[in-house]
Amino acid sequence: MAGTPGEAGPSARRLLIVEDDRDLGDMLVGLFTDHGYAVDLAVEGQRGLHLALSRPYDALIVDRGLPVIDGLDLLARLRRRAVTVPALVLTAYGAVADRVAGLDAGAEDYLVKPFEVEELLARVRALHRRNLDLARLLPLGGAGWLDPESHAVLRPDGGRVQLSARECRLLRELASRPKQVHTRSSLRQRVFDGASKESVVDTYVYYLRTKLGTGVVCTVRGVGYRLGGP
Ligand code: CA
Repeated sequence: MAGTPGEAGPSARRLLIVEDDRDLGDMLVGLFTDHGYAVDLAVEGQRGLHLALSRPYDALIVDRGLPVIDGLDLLARLRRRAVTVPALVLTAYGAVADRVAGLDAGAEDYLVKPFEVEELLARVRALHRRNLDLARLLPLGGAGWLDPESHAVLRPDGGRVQLSARECRLLRELASRPKQVHTRSSLRQRVFDGASKESVVDTYVYYLRTKLGTGVVCTVRGVGYRLGGP
């Protein structure tokens, strides 16, 4: 059973709640709708799974104990199908083993009933921020991901490399159009505001390769540079 994602407007955060306790489910729909979310409610796991696979959501709230498919099974099935929307599991069980099972199944967070609604709202806001954080990362082939906001590269091994503002701007330019070969002249214009000689581009490519490995930027002889391959 899906609620109407209606009144909150097209830019609202989209939330799916899977909860078989009708009173609690209705309360949560009202709460999040009042806070500007577009909310769908499913009262059993099969329906929740169908909705999560067929509609885009910014976050999920999933009750652990559900008829048909339980909450952890639902999450595990979503993760196996590469649905990465962040999820918070609600549960009546508070033991450490249950918490670990929830996180293992692919939940990002876990809240034990009964809970304070303010805490639930805060945790769902945190899930949403995490989703945005992931969305703004630019893939760098085999070198990891660029986070343009913090000027950092997140390496596949979990490491983090800090870049200067100029290095970040150059790498962002290359990573935003990864297939394209960028001429030194266009990079000088776009990254260095045309202020320096073209050799400034070579200098900053050298800095990036020193920090991130030689493969991060490819030289295209006689033309310029492009992002390195995987
Ligand atoms: Ca339940």
